[in-house]
Amino acid sequence: MAGRLNGKKALCTAAGQGIGRATALMMHAEGAEVLATDVNGAALEELAAAGLATAPLNVLDKDAVVAAVKGFQPDILFNCAGYVHAGDVLACTDDDWDFAFALNCRSMFWTMQAAIPGMLERGVGSIVNMSSAASSIIGAPNRFVYGATKAAVIGMTKQVAREYITKGVRANCICPGTVESPSLHDRLRATGDYEQAMKDFIARQPMGRIGTSEEIAALAVYLSSDESAFTTGQACVIDGGWSG
Ligand code: NAD
Repeated sequence: MAGRLNGKKALCTAAGQGIGRATALMMHAEGAEVLATDVNGAALEELAAAGLATAPLNVLDKDAVVAAVKGFQPDILFNCAGYVHAGDVLACTDDDWDFAFALNCRSMFWTMQAAIPGMLERGVGSIVNMSSAASSIIGAPNRFVYGATKAAVIGMTKQVAREYITKGVRANCICPGTVESPSLHDRLRATGDYEQAMKDFIARQPMGRIGTSEEIAALAVYLSSDESAFTTGQACVIDGGWSG
């Protein structure tokens, strides 16, 4: 079957649920050989049943990250792992800061550092990093350290793209607005008023709805495929017009 990712190997982090899961499944459907990873190995069982290769992987564990990436030698690296910290600058602790940067940024530094030598050898590679509209694109309330980490993801992505622009290795990042995912419901519940929080999220979306994981996955597949061969170093905003 002709797929847009035929013949390509794709490694996805945080593929156990939400955007990562939808993307791993869509990449598989498009013909890629996918290695779907997540710190929660149990969350990968359905993907394994659907025919994807799976492996537990904690992106905070450097040795494990390097072994997984070097062992698989991906042509496509989808760095989806990330955590949304709620809170403003006054509420952010040093531990919050360190954890957010370790999970949302340093993990991508490690996966890219492990993946790029093989990509350069083969002269082909597409890196897709998960940023957010809440970054250097737009300031969102209660997203101090989260916004800082996601802005850093844009900076890392642009730098890597520039470095290898003539070597066949591309890097782009995705900046979603609010997207339906299991952790979104956790964040809404954590506000203490789920219904009101959901209304507030929807109210800031000019389109009157939040996004779906499949809509973000479709962009990730496009950026991973040769259809986007002329695109690198971009922060691709997909936010229902939130920042427009
Ligand atoms: P989610 O938050 O529901 O799920 C996150 C997944 O990451 C889980 O499967 C979890 O087990 C995994 N994970 C957590 N810590 C990990 C670790 N140390 N190593 C490996 N995996 C780990 O998924 P989501 O909401 O789709 O978010 C995915 C990405 O998209 C994140 O980077 C997030 O910041 C970004 N994002 C999400 C939204 C949104 O509204 N949902 C908006 C913009 C950006």
